[in-house]
Amino acid sequence: MADEPLNQPKSDTPSNGLQSPVAKTAARPAPAKTAISAGSPASAQPQPAAAKLKQQKPVKAVVAQPAAVESEEVDSDDFWRSFLIMAPSWLVSLVVHMILILVLAMIYMTTEGDQGAAQIVAAPPEEIALDDLEDLINEEKELDVTDTTLGDPNFEATDTVMISPANDLDAAAQMVDLDPAGTEFAPRNLTQTIGAYSGTGLSGRGSGAKGALLARRGGNIHSEKAVAAALEWLKRHQLPDGGWDFDLTKCPNCGGRCRNSGTSRSRNAATALALLPFLGAGQTHKEGKYRDVVYHGLMFLGRQMKPDGSLNDSGNMYAHGLAAIALCEAFAMTQDKSLHPAAQRSLDFIVYAQDPVGGGWRYQPKQPGDTSVVGWQIMALKSGHMAYLRVPPATVKKAFDFLDHVQSNSGANYGYTGPGQGEATTAIGLLCRMYLGWKKDNPALQRGVEWLSNRGPSKGNMYYNYYATQVLCHWEGDLWKKWNSVMRDYLINTQATEGCEAGSWFFGEGGHDHGREQGGRLYFTALATMILEVYYRHMPIYRSQSVDEDFPL
Ligand SMILES: [Zn+2]
Repeated sequence: MADEPLNQPKSDTPSNGLQSPVAKTAARPAPAKTAISAGSPASAQPQPAAAKLKQQKPVKAVVAQPAAVESEEVDSDDFWRSFLIMAPSWLVSLVVHMILILVLAMIYMTTEGDQGAAQIVAAPPEEIALDDLEDLINEEKELDVTDTTLGDPNFEATDTVMISPANDLDAAAQMVDLDPAGTEFAPRNLTQTIGAYSGTGLSGRGSGAKGALLARRGGNIHSEKAVAAALEWLKRHQLPDGGWDFDLTKCPNCGGRCRNSGTSRSRNAATALALLPFLGAGQTHKEGKYRDVVYHGLMFLGRQMKPDGSLNDSGNMYAHGLAAIALCEAFAMTQDKSLHPAAQRSLDFIVYAQDPVGGGWRYQPKQPGDTSVVGWQIMALKSGHMAYLRVPPATVKKAFDFLDHVQSNSGANYGYTGPGQGEATTAIGLLCRMYLGWKKDNPALQRGVEWLSNRGPSKGNMYYNYYATQVLCHWEGDLWKKWNSVMRDYLINTQATEGCEAGSWFFGEGGHDHGREQGGRLYFTALATMILEVYYRHMPIYRSQSVDEDFPL
């Protein structure tokens, strides 16, 4: 009932990714607002000064002149002032006219192309120019708010200051050459230091840590083979534009040979879901055999980002949360500065979109939240925090309020939009609690984990399995061993092995996963793959000091 991944009302999908061809890269210059607010004072200056030249006595015109030229004529300005003080007035009148012509000529010649000088020569009347500019500035501010549906002007202002397109582009160019391997985060000697993990929380994906964590936490050669086959399936179903589509008939390599396309039209959600299993396996755009696949996928998301930082192409926050996780994880793993603007802006949009009253998130920004959408946003904030991106503590605190609102059994279970105990929502709520600081000795957490354990893995609800598996894996111990042996082998045995579907999953029977219809085979494949990557996809919460203590509260 409650858990509805990727579930958006059909009336809610006015556009899909294909309708957003305009490339808006991560480092795209700030909207026109920036240019206007920064440029208008400067361009306004010369015009009143020039108007005075035409309308008033020459003496005053000369006094006004330096204001238009400013720094370029500082020395000569002093000279003119001295001359004027010492000379008789008729001489001033004569000489000033001559000098004025010369000065204007010099300015025009020596500052060719300078906008200020050009406006001195052909300036409009003073009052009209000022009025026009003020109107223009006011209009632009209003348009910004309206066009982006951002009700909070402060959000725009902060965003604009933060992004420096020129600097970011420079940094990106350097980092391409200097950036070390994306998995440098992974401690190379981890096999000797098990039990003393540190790092970003994604460190387990490096080749050194991966093997040790895989073995210690219950993965095996068969689960790894399944992951490898799944990545091949995902690669084969990438579209030429770098993104993915839930509709598999859109993929030239597949052409619909795979059954069970999803009905969701969100290219961003499909692309993010497909990218996450690559990142989970330590494959980035800088490291691994799928560099090109990941690179083009990330570039697709970068192009899809709107000026306000949103990636909710399907009209709701599911797509945005998923895409934000992908961007933040990729940045966390590679520290590639060219990803920084997009990753940070995706987080900023989550911060903006939070329900200011209840602290949750839902389809549209600032709506009262539901646990399903909240789960993706909190995971994105967590990934961003691990990447050292800016996550306001106030946002995290408010998210606590939402979890408090939907919890039942004193925090052991969680509902959808109010108190309840759905299986998926309980798993989401508990994982969020773990990431937001609940310790392992918390009685509610203990009872919630036992509740999930007694329920066991679902045969059809991969959304529930995805979250519950993470909760149990972090919990460790016998409950995890019991869960994992069932979950792991079930997925290994249900992976498709024939034809174009080989390497993918689809669960058509016995399940009640609401993402099945919308997300189809791509959705199930992504979730199943990430479940089988659980051993190394995230570092253990209760052994990593950096993961469970540093999140801002
Ligand atoms: Zn196919």
